[in-house]
Amino acid sequence: MLRLIFATLLSGCLPLAAAELKIAVLHPLLGDLAREIGGDRVETIDLIGPNGDPHHFEPRPEDLQKAAGAKLYLVAGMGLEGYLPKLKSVVAGKAELIEVGATLPPLAGCDGDDHEGHHHAVDPHWWHSIELFRRATGIVLEAMATAAPEDAALFRKNAAVYQKKLDALAIASRKEISRIPRDRRHLATTHAAFNYLCKDFGFVPHPVQGLNREQMPDPRELAKLVTDLKANQVAAIFPEKESNPKILSTLTHDTGIKLGDPLIADGTGGTSYIEMYRHNVAAIVKGLAP
Ligand SMILES: [Zn+2]
Repeated sequence: MLRLIFATLLSGCLPLAAAELKIAVLHPLLGDLAREIGGDRVETIDLIGPNGDPHHFEPRPEDLQKAAGAKLYLVAGMGLEGYLPKLKSVVAGKAELIEVGATLPPLAGCDGDDHEGHHHAVDPHWWHSIELFRRATGIVLEAMATAAPEDAALFRKNAAVYQKKLDALAIASRKEISRIPRDRRHLATTHAAFNYLCKDFGFVPHPVQGLNREQMPDPRELAKLVTDLKANQVAAIFPEKESNPKILSTLTHDTGIKLGDPLIADGTGGTSYIEMYRHNVAAIVKGLAP
C-alpha cells in the first residue's frame, strides 16, 4: 500500500512525457505559432534558422535530416517559398505539408517584373495582418489536431488563449497608431513587406525595393520614389533589422528624410510574433508621430 502511494506521488512529480508531435517549420513565425498552440506537447524544428531569409532557402539533405520524423511541415505559402515544389516531392508520403497562407485572402504584389524577370502576382507577407495571423492560428490548430488527436483538446484551449492575445495586440496597435495623423501615414520601407500592415492601418506603402530583399530599384524607379517621398512630406524611411542596403543612406542623404528605427520584415531574428508586431508599431509611431 505504502509502495503504491509512493509510486503515485512519484509519478505525479515526474515531468510530462516527451513532446508527441514533431513539426518542421519553414518560417520562424510559424514555429512561434505552433509552440503557442502545442506548448510542451510539440517539438518544432526551424529549418531556416533565426537569421535565415525565408525568401531564399534551399533545403539541404542535412536540414531534412533534422526534420526526420516530423509529422507536419508548415510553410507560409502565397508564393514565398520558391523551393516548395522540391520540398513537396521530398516530403510526399512521409508527412503532411500545410501551406498556411493558401486559403488566406492575398494582396496583389505592388510591383511588376522583378529583376529575375518573373512576376510576383501576390504579396506573400500576410503575417503583417494581425487578422490573418489570427486566421492562421485556426489553420495550424486544425492541422495539429489532426496530426495528434489525443492532444486536440489542449491545442484548442491554447489556440483560444492565443487568439485573445492577438485581439489585444490589434487593439493596442490601433491605439498606438492613432497617434499618427492620417496625412502622415506614409510608410517608406526597405523591401515591400508591409502592404498588409499598410492596408489594415491606413498607410500608403513606399517600398524602396521589391517584394524580396535582393530587388533594387532602377534609376527611373528611384527618381519617382524620391519625388513621391518629398511630395508627401514623408517623415522617415525605415531600414530593416534583416537587411539594410546602402541605397537607404543615399536616399536619406538625397531627400533629407531621417532614418527610422529598423523594422522586422520577414519575422526572423528570434522574436515572437507579438514581440515583432509591438516592436514594429513602436518604431513606426516613433518615426512618424508628430
Ligand atoms: Zn520579405
